[in-house]
Amino acid sequence: MTRKIALITGASRGLGKSIALHLAAQGVDIVGTYQSKQSDAESVKAELEALGAKAQMLQLDVGDSQAFAGFTDRVGEALVALSGAARFDFLINNAGIGLYGSVTETTEEQFDLLMNIHFKGPYFLTQKLLPLLRDGGSIVNISTGLARFSLPGYSAYASMKGAVEVWTRYLAKELGPRQINVNSLAPGAIETDFGGGRTRDDANINQHIAGITALGRAGLPDDIGAAVSMLLGEGGRWITGQRIEASGGMFL
Ligand code: NAP
Repeated sequence: MTRKIALITGASRGLGKSIALHLAAQGVDIVGTYQSKQSDAESVKAELEALGAKAQMLQLDVGDSQAFAGFTDRVGEALVALSGAARFDFLINNAGIGLYGSVTETTEEQFDLLMNIHFKGPYFLTQKLLPLLRDGGSIVNISTGLARFSLPGYSAYASMKGAVEVWTRYLAKELGPRQINVNSLAPGAIETDFGGGRTRDDANINQHIAGITALGRAGLPDDIGAAVSMLLGEGGRWITGQRIEASGGMFL
């Protein structure tokens, strides 16, 4: 059977790395991206290859839409190197940053940075990559629990993810004729470097999150890697246009 290929943005660390490892363990080859941490990306590549997957890691700033045409060319070349054809099966829009600021403090620069990385970037990157995505493929956009519940300090960040969730439904509608399913996966607080690593490294924050989570702990990257690989497995084929929260039941 032909091996499938996933393109994952932000695969050098955190959730993207875990998604890559879970998919590789299911026999999927990976084109991953990193922004600046090339050595982390090379380590992930080695881990993926140790699982028997083929992998390529490419540099990308998802906040710089001017670079997307050149990036798409490099994706095409990487896909040909992996499989002989410039086609892939799964797109996971994951790369992102956390930026904390109240409504009264958030600057236009911070707002624009968040918009470019979390909404404009994925929107136009996906537009550029769609010709390479196979009919019958899948897209997963990583959102956040903060698009459902509100915590002070995340208004700009969470609003961009809210836009991603609306866009996801439009993508699902417009790509349905190509049999491409599109969903958003909304993690709760997960122990990664995100937002300065506060969920992982600050014991008070970690315990607070455990206390407001039905399953009684903060999330781990593997919780999300497993959820995305489930969604991209056979059981996910008839699910489209949905927001699926993987938060262990935060703020139920
Ligand atoms: P992370 O551990 O900080 O990793 C971020 C990843 O994104 C890295 O691979 C990084 O590349 C890449 N990246 C950062 N800025 C980029 C840019 N401008 N262009 C391209 N790539 C960029 O974060 P994470 O926790 O895995 O977060 C991944 C996604 O999950 C984000 O969309 C985030 O909003 C979302 N999310 C996270 C949480 C959480 O609690 N962790 C909760 C809900 C949603 P380098 O390694 O090269 O820097």
